[in-house]
Parts: sequence; structure tokens; C-alpha cells
Amino acid sequence: MSRWTDVNKQTPTAILQPASELDVEKIVYKAVKAKIPIIIKSGGNSPWSTISSGGWIIDLSLLSNFSLDTQNQTATIQPGVLSKTINVAVQEAGFCIQSPGSAKVSCVGFLLGGGSSYLNGLYGMGVDSLVSARVVTAYPEEGTVVCSEEENEELLWAIKGAGQFFGVVTEVTMKMYPLKEEEGPLSWTMVFTTDKMKEVALALEEVSKGEQVVRSPGLAMVMAMPGFRKPGIMVSLIHFRPEDEAEKIMAPLLELDPAQQIKKVVPWGNMTDSADMLAGHGGIKTLHSCGMKEFDGKKFEKSLELWEKIDKEVPGAKGCAFIMNWFALDGVKIKEGTSAWSHRDMGVWSMHLISAEDEASHNAAVELSKEYFDMCQADLQKSEKALFPNHWRGKDLDRRFRGQGTVKRLRVLKELWDPEGVFTKQFL
Ligand SMILES: Cc1cc2nc3c(=O)[nH]c(=O)nc-3n(C[C@H](O)[C@H](O)[C@H](O)COP(=O)(O)OP(=O)(O)OC[C@H]3O[C@@H](n4cnc5c(N)ncnc54)[C@H](O)[C@@H]3O)c2cc1C
Repeated sequence: MSRWTDVNKQTPTAILQPASELDVEKIVYKAVKAKIPIIIKSGGNSPWSTISSGGWIIDLSLLSNFSLDTQNQTATIQPGVLSKTINVAVQEAGFCIQSPGSAKVSCVGFLLGGGSSYLNGLYGMGVDSLVSARVVTAYPEEGTVVCSEEENEELLWAIKGAGQFFGVVTEVTMKMYPLKEEEGPLSWTMVFTTDKMKEVALALEEVSKGEQVVRSPGLAMVMAMPGFRKPGIMVSLIHFRPEDEAEKIMAPLLELDPAQQIKKVVPWGNMTDSADMLAGHGGIKTLHSCGMKEFDGKKFEKSLELWEKIDKEVPGAKGCAFIMNWFALDGVKIKEGTSAWSHRDMGVWSMHLISAEDEASHNAAVELSKEYFDMCQADLQKSEKALFPNHWRGKDLDRRFRGQGTVKRLRVLKELWDPEGVFTKQFL
């Protein structure tokens, strides 16, 4: 079975591919009765959708239907639907939708851990557009549970950020948004040589702040471009605005005379294309991240130092990319308290893609990357040290699900919906 990373890859006793929600109910029923450990897989982009001998993987790839309701501006999506597919469909209907930035990531898998997209500044996190979900719980004989604002709203709250731990989500309905022609999106990418790091980092502090970010989120990345041995700095902003306005925002970067730049309006269906080089399945890879309150040029500069250190000390991990992305919190903050996603004060995420030839190099590079994250969050209070739930698993629950009472509320819900830990032991 194809997966994004081979880290933690295990061989189950069986891989079951349900073709309907009823099939899912039957499989979960059998597994619960026979006490067979199960794990759910949708897009296979995390290291957690795999299980060892004795267990079953429920592979939801065949649940790949979706429908668009243009009247009510919603999309109903099954877990086998990947980002590229839905983006193309909503574009054809004149809309955009919160979806993963990479073509092969499942739209449902992305939502369950919060869902960060170019539309955060305008409409909040992906989960903020979630209207309802259908869930096969640990009690499949009672039928699939619907959760929405009208029924099982506590379960909906949990699904919005901790959705991997309460049942099999077989379908979601989420809002989509009309996209006017003058809103682009205009993708503007620049490449700089690393001797300009200090100036670029300073310019990014300007570009990543203020009201302008609502319609102009972006990312900056240190990596060696394909075919190059030395790293470069890539900066990419997505502007939901006309080109003349975008030009004013890009001015501090344009002044630095980029080595290369590409500026083009990207149809929504092509939004993931620029990330295709990161989407390929297979290989020893990790994607992890940590949250910050604002873009700090000095911290970004240190990602170049990290690249150089790994290049020197861990030669087996040459394919790493160190990204910092930023978005406005306007659309995110107004939904405070409505979801298990609890990082509504974090508008900047440092995200590291670690790619290595062997496990030892991978592990060594991950450790160095974690040291970098510690540096990034050194000026934050303990309660502010956010970790993105889509990228981390482990004992650090209060860093993934922050805020007073969040973990406690999730534990209560877990006791109610999955007291035996059919869908992992998280929160038990
Ligand atoms: C290249 C790449 C790009 C990414 N881009 C983004 C991005 O732009 N924004 C963002 O927020 N995240 C992004 N992510 C993170 C991604 O959203 C998470 O890794 C997500 O969990 C992947 O979902 P999946 O279904 O593809 O993976 P899987 O490994 O299949 O599933 C992930 C987890 O969810 C559980 N799960 C899967 N389906 C279900 C279901 N239907 N019901 C209940 N539990 C389920 C699995 O058991 C597993 O624990 C990216 C990851 C990669 C590798």
C-alpha cells in the first residue's frame, strides 16, 4: 500500500477496502467483536495510518465520492477524495475550498487535524468550514452517527481538530466560497541566493505583518532546488487581490533583486501543482512543525544555519526543506472555542520536511530540527508552545490541544464514544 513516508511502515494482517459506509460499519463491528486492532487510512500522508501484524488497516481509498451543492455553497466529501480532485471540481463550479496544499493529501484527513490552507486569513482554519460529519463509532451496530450544530455537537467540536480518535469519519460537508476574477489568486514566487539572507529575512518581517496578510499569506523556504547542491531561499505569496495591489506588498522583496521570479494567476484546480515535488509517496521522510506568534527574521536566518549544519554533519539527509509560513489570524480568531483545534493565536508555523537516505540520518536530522523548534519557541510561555496536531503524535497532548480544559473535554468525549480505545488510546 502506497504511503507518503516509509517511516514507521508496518505489515498488517489485512488491508480492508470498504466500498460503502455500510462496509465500514461491518468491518468495525467485526473488529470490535473479535478485538482486532484497527487503524484508519485515507490519503496515507501521515506515519500513523499503519499497524503491525495482528491488526487491520481500513483503507478508505474507495470511498472517493463527492458532490457540490452550489446553491448552499457546500461540498460533501468522502475520505478517499484527494486535494487535487476537489480543487479542480470546485474551480469548475466557480468556487474555492479549504484543502491541503499537496495534491495527494486526503481532504478529510487534512480537516481532522485542523486543516491549514491559503484561505485561513479569510475564512479561518479548514475545520471552521466544517458543517457536519458522518462517523462510524466504536458502536457500529447503532448505525453511523451524524454530528452537526443540531445533533451531537460535542462530537463535532472534537472532530474539528482531534478527529482521528473518535471513529471512522466516512463523509464531511464543508463550506466552499465563491472566487471572483479580481481575487486571483495570484501566485508570486521569488528565489534569492543565500548571500542575501539577512536582507530577505528583514523584508519578510515587513511582508508578513499587518492587515495586508489577510489576502496575501505566504511562505519562505530554505532548500537546495532540484539539481543544485547549495541551498537557495524561495519566497512564495498567494495574493487574493489584483496585481497592482500585490506589487505594493512585494515591494520590499522586489528591491532585493531576486535571482528569479514567477508571477501568475493560478486556477484553483492547480493550486497544489507547485508543491508536487513534495507530494511523491515513499522514502524516509518526516513533516513536522511548531507554532509561533509572528514572523521573526532572525529565526528564519537560523534555518539556513540548520541547513548547513545538516549538510555537514548528516550527509545522508540532503533533501531537507525548512519552511516558515504565515497567515492572518482575522478569520481564525473569531472561531475561538468552537473546535478542538486550539492554536488560534499562532499565525506563523515553522515546518520542516526531513528527507533522508537511511533511518539513522533521518533520526539525526529530526533531532537537529527539534532543537531548532525549541529555539523558535524559547520566548513563548509553556502553555503557548503549540504543535500542529496533523504533524505530531505522542505524550505532548497539552501542546497539541492547548487551552484550559481542552484535553479534559476530549478525555470525557473519548470515554463516551470510544472507552475501549478502538480508535487509538489517545485521551484514555
Ligand atoms: C506533502 C504533505 C503536504 C501537506 N499539506 C498540508 C496542508 O497544506 N495543510 C494541512 O493542514 N496539513 C497538511 N499536511 C498534513 C496532513 O494534512 C496530515 O498529515 C493528514 O493527517 C493527512 O491525512 P491523510 O488522510 O492523507 O493521511 P493518513 O495517514 O491516511 O491519515 C492521517 C491520520 O488520520 C487518521 N484518519 C485518516 N482518515 C480518517 C478518517 N476518515 N476517520 C478517522 N481518522 C482518519 C489516520 O488513522 C491517521 O492517524 C500535509 C502533509 C504532507 C505529507
